Amino acid sequence: MKAPARRLRRPRPRRTRDAPQRAPEILARLRAAYPDARCALEHRSAFELLCATILSAQCTDARVNLVTPTLFAAYPTPEALARARPEDVEAIIKSTGFFRNKTRSLIGMAQALVADHGGEVPRTMEQLRVLPGVGRKTANVILGNAFGLNEGITVDTHVARLSRLLGLTGHDDPTKIEHDLMPLFPRETWGLLSHLLIFHGRRVCIARRPRCGECVVSDLCPSSLV
Ligand code: SF4
Repeated sequence: MKAPARRLRRPRPRRTRDAPQRAPEILARLRAAYPDARCALEHRSAFELLCATILSAQCTDARVNLVTPTLFAAYPTPEALARARPEDVEAIIKSTGFFRNKTRSLIGMAQALVADHGGEVPRTMEQLRVLPGVGRKTANVILGNAFGLNEGITVDTHVARLSRLLGLTGHDDPTKIEHDLMPLFPRETWGLLSHLLIFHGRRVCIARRPRCGECVVSDLCPSSLV
């Protein structure tokens, strides 16, 4: 009788004890592999990045980039967006999904910028995360990419998944993952780290079909299938 095929199984994700030793080399190799790693949301200002990041919830960056030129042409400033009619914004952003909620967030965010911040995007985590539609993840994106401030690490689905596979965290909660990652990497690399993990998650460590044989950190990864 033919023996049943052996399935490769990964161990349950957890933060391994040698994570602090592996982390610098993981960072160095990903840096070398993705010298072009950067924010994929197209923007020319902190305000545009804030709008694009709100739109990127449950949506691909490529789809957001198709919509934002029309949105920014129609509403180039927080003042203009604060006065927008919801139905007009909804028509522009519909294809990004959850368009009614996102419209409420966009107009509410713009109104808060005008009312509380003189029409400027604030530069602190505390001020950003109380804006409509903005949580810690979005605030980290803005601080890191618009202002070059490494206040925290942006944890999206790719960053969360790869951090677990790489044995850098055992958590599912983005805030707990962020706090596991922060002591492992120099502060000035926090923004870059997110981009590197996102690039690696899109190009090599693809969900459900990771290409471990082509992976530059395969020998450093406790989940490697090679
Ligand atoms: S070795 Fe495999 S599971 Fe680990 S990071 Fe690379 S592609 Fe992902």
